[in-house]
Amino acid sequence: MRVKCVLCDKVETIDDETLLAKRLRNRPIHTYMCQDCHDRIAKRTKERLQTGKFKLYRDPKTDEDW
Ligand SMILES: [Zn+2]
Repeated sequence: MRVKCVLCDKVETIDDETLLAKRLRNRPIHTYMCQDCHDRIAKRTKERLQTGKFKLYRDPKTDEDW
């Protein structure tokens, strides 16, 4: 089946028998993302998680000290 990436509009053909194809057929709302965009998002999510973790180690008192 042919799928279009929601982020960059790249059209790709995926095997009808893959889990992804079945998921897209069963739930049309489930949108497709190409590997490039998927990787980009994954990287950004990881960076955000690292930033969040960093904040946890900050002393909360420094925020009030001004
Ligand atoms: Zn894409």
